[in-house]
Amino acid sequence: MSDRLSAYEGIVGSSRITQLRRIGKKLGGIRVVHVNSTRQGGGVAEILDWMVPLMREAGLDATWEVIEGTDDFFEVTKNIHNGLQGRPVDLSHRGWKIFQEVNEMNMERLRPTLTDADIVVIHDPQPAFLLPLCSERKGKWVWRGHIDISRPFRPVWKVLRTMLEKYDASIFSMCEFAQALPHTQYIVPPSIDPLSSKNRDLDMSELENVRARFGLDPERPLLVQVSRFDRFKDPVGVIQAYRMVRKVLPVQLVLAGGTATDDPEGKAVLEDVMEVAEEDPDIHVLNLPPNAHETINALQRLADIILQKSTREGFGLTVTEGMWKGKPVIGGDTGGIRLQVVNHHTGFLVNTPEGAAHRIRYLLHHQNRISEMGAVAREFVRENFLLTRHLREYLTLFLAIRRETDVRRLEV
Ligand code: UDP
Repeated sequence: MSDRLSAYEGIVGSSRITQLRRIGKKLGGIRVVHVNSTRQGGGVAEILDWMVPLMREAGLDATWEVIEGTDDFFEVTKNIHNGLQGRPVDLSHRGWKIFQEVNEMNMERLRPTLTDADIVVIHDPQPAFLLPLCSERKGKWVWRGHIDISRPFRPVWKVLRTMLEKYDASIFSMCEFAQALPHTQYIVPPSIDPLSSKNRDLDMSELENVRARFGLDPERPLLVQVSRFDRFKDPVGVIQAYRMVRKVLPVQLVLAGGTATDDPEGKAVLEDVMEVAEEDPDIHVLNLPPNAHETINALQRLADIILQKSTREGFGLTVTEGMWKGKPVIGGDTGGIRLQVVNHHTGFLVNTPEGAAHRIRYLLHHQNRISEMGAVAREFVRENFLLTRHLREYLTLFLAIRRETDVRRLEV
């Protein structure tokens, strides 16, 4: 009996945990390797951090490998990321060559692990070229795209597609991201761990410490957006919305972010944000270290309203985190935010800083709606976006992929 899985019984009920153990048993200790490009920073690392140990507890032989890259490589992969999310980018032949060479270097190191695995899950584009390099593979390879590729910049997509076509299956967070690919595509939205330091309950003294540390005024409403300093998260749009609200209400704003080792653009975006904030003492731009989970947890709990005004978003774990803390979320009407923010029920979807400002003012003038929507938001997360559902979908997907192999073997 695994204690770690049992710990979730109080939150999701014991039958869901029993079901997980049952499916895990059917998989009979298969070897699963996850590969991504950073151990810390961003949503993928956040998910793998709990998913790999829980897969092990469900009986799988699961491990997590991180590819290593040069600064040049991460410049290129950030361009690929931006291109896939629809921004026209200039990716030269040399850029793709760097992409291939770094994948080759990693393949040398990871070859024995990847060749023997029953299932390899490659997360996002950075390590996507490993499969074409693994000619001796024994298992099935799945590509898991975490970003919004509903309207990719075609030249980037065309090259990436030649790699993805070789995979046995792919996984996207929502139907809108699915692509014309010659294999089965699964839809699996992400989730959060309600017992992690990012999401566990905090006591008043922990909240007060964080409030005092950043000089936040307990008497005035607080707006919080947590995200990497990335232009798609639209931190400047958030400041514009805050300024419009500020004309009529004495709000404070926290923009909490940090950088990820695979995201070289963060520094420049942070500088832009600081410039736009113009040393306004009520705009708190916080550049946090990657392990500031409790601080982020506290900031989300101290908030009256959570913002996530992205213009593109694969899913937006920060939305889930805010909703789990019983807060309404005002989010960009895009990607995975649409799965979570049910307009007028768990928050509001907006397209412009003006729209965001309008909804912030409405909520601050109707305090009862803040608590009503927050309560609905928390239950919506319990039903749909906790790790137990996510783990179940991965395990059943592995079963399906394994069965496909068995059926093909029988047919031969
Ligand atoms: N996060 C963090 N520190 C930061 C910024 C973000 O720990 O400075 C976390 C955030 O709490 C969330 C994840 O990183 O768990 C971001 O995931 P999301 O899906 O919102 O966006 P991504 O960064 O993957 O685009």
